[in-house]
Amino acid sequence: MTAKDTGAMRRWAETAEAIRATRATSKKSSIVAEYLRSLGDEDLGIAAVFLSGRPFPARDQRKAGLGWRAITTVVQKVAGVGDGAMGQAYDRSSDVGTAVGEVLETAGHAPAGRPLALAEVAGAYVRLATTRGRDAKAQVFADLLHRADPLSARYVTAILGGELRIGLREGHLEKGIAQAFEQDLAAVQWAGMLTGDIGRTARLARDGALDTARLSLFHPLKSMLASPVADEAEALSRLEPPVWVEDKYDGIRALLHRQGDEVRLFSRDLNDITSGFPEIVEAARAVDWEGILDGEILAWRDGAVLPFLQLQTRIGRKKPTAQVLAQVPVIYVAFDVLALGEGSPPEPLLREPLRERRRRLEALDLPGTPGFGLAALVDAADEVELERIFAEAQERGNEGLMLKDPASTYAPGRRGYAWLKLKKALTTLDCVVVGAEVGHGRRHGVLSDYTFAVIDDRPGAAEGALVTVGKAYTGLTDAEIAEMTKWFEAHTLERFGRYRKVEPTVVVEIAFDVVHASSRHKSGYAMRFPRIVRIRDDKSAAEVDRLSTVAALHERLQVAGRSGVLTDGTMST
Ligand code: AMP
Repeated sequence: MTAKDTGAMRRWAETAEAIRATRATSKKSSIVAEYLRSLGDEDLGIAAVFLSGRPFPARDQRKAGLGWRAITTVVQKVAGVGDGAMGQAYDRSSDVGTAVGEVLETAGHAPAGRPLALAEVAGAYVRLATTRGRDAKAQVFADLLHRADPLSARYVTAILGGELRIGLREGHLEKGIAQAFEQDLAAVQWAGMLTGDIGRTARLARDGALDTARLSLFHPLKSMLASPVADEAEALSRLEPPVWVEDKYDGIRALLHRQGDEVRLFSRDLNDITSGFPEIVEAARAVDWEGILDGEILAWRDGAVLPFLQLQTRIGRKKPTAQVLAQVPVIYVAFDVLALGEGSPPEPLLREPLRERRRRLEALDLPGTPGFGLAALVDAADEVELERIFAEAQERGNEGLMLKDPASTYAPGRRGYAWLKLKKALTTLDCVVVGAEVGHGRRHGVLSDYTFAVIDDRPGAAEGALVTVGKAYTGLTDAEIAEMTKWFEAHTLERFGRYRKVEPTVVVEIAFDVVHASSRHKSGYAMRFPRIVRIRDDKSAAEVDRLSTVAALHERLQVAGRSGVLTDGTMST
């Protein structure tokens, strides 16, 4: 049958099935290539976007999503089956699209009218994104399902929810496009990144016009990532000295876009977080620039960084209250610039070496601008210098260093060796487990969450008294947890609901990021991201660390403040 006979959405769905059925990525790409080559211009653009697993191209941030409840109600009604059918189907596959397909198939659902065309599905997604009201949205979805055969319905739903699950990664899709129209893969990737529109990219590829792609702002670009190195020597074996060195700040990574009066902030996981940081939006509008900056949002007061714990109160808040804004002010500390220029659109700088990008960034005079900072940059010629800079960064309360190759271009989403991160675990603490709880999810039924303590050596404390400093539930293997469960069950002193007070004999070595003051534990301190490094069978409870050590670690981290950020014309390092 031809595409015309079956309706283009059906053919798209069959192609998706074929892609899902093969594990070989080169085969996936060639199925994509062959299919895309067979399509007309409009269908090509839509089909490529749908293959990216989204109803809209990345540069279009609208959401067409429909909740589980709405989907379930509509599907059960269209299929003419009772309540619970969708739930049962979902339990079998844990996938909404598959469940929809299965319920319709089992019910013998026959599509009505003309077969669905890709453009009709795309149009329905737009209506879902723009229609207000639950019932009206449900009606749009119901109309789609009436027209769809079960396989098409499965994929219409999967795309809608952004959960395609056919094992087709962005890279395979780009490869398929390159292959379909005999274009250079790098050119496809570059155009895809600039436009944020894989559909448009596919059409440009077909026309041999990839080099006409222009940067469009306000779609999330992937951040360049750094590879970890163990120590200074490894860093210098990977990067030619002198290396560029910045502090590794402990904030929220974000790309800041601005054109005209429009400003957007995108997080590292590609979410639009603009509304959570109105002061950065305001600051960005006040400076004379257009383009894209890369940097870190830091909690900041009186020229000093506030601990990450405070910044945390701003995370996930869509509209912070005036009180929150006053309590935890933030600044945007830039360390890179990806595009700049008055023109429409701004000129991409990703292919310029970092040295040039930094020159352009410095010319913006961000340190002189309220709400902005600039990452302090130094260079290091050898290990001794790097060690000194590392120690200074930790003194400033930062977790380590970022080392960068000044000749490197900006590689979005890539974790290469042009950027390195150097962190060293501050230290570990030996603690004794005093409480155990059953875990969640995969770990239900076993005692996998441990509350641990150190020796209270404050004046007046009883000899050998223990005070809790944290709770960890990661780090041990399943076998170790099974063994611990048996042991703790046999050595439970008292039970309080899920929590068991256990005999304080098992010593664990705990790694963590920082120690902060907290009323959650009796010690007055808590650790951030505690994880069990190992069980110390060789140690007894009397040999665990003392509270004074914890307090000293906390003191050391409190000197945070100077931060390694340049603001208001002053160097704070
Ligand atoms: P990690 O989260 O440990 O993989 O480290 C990478 C992260 O460090 C980035 O995503 C940034 O959020 C953060 N970071 C902090 N300071 C810098 C800096 N000066 N340059 C680049 N990334 C930085």
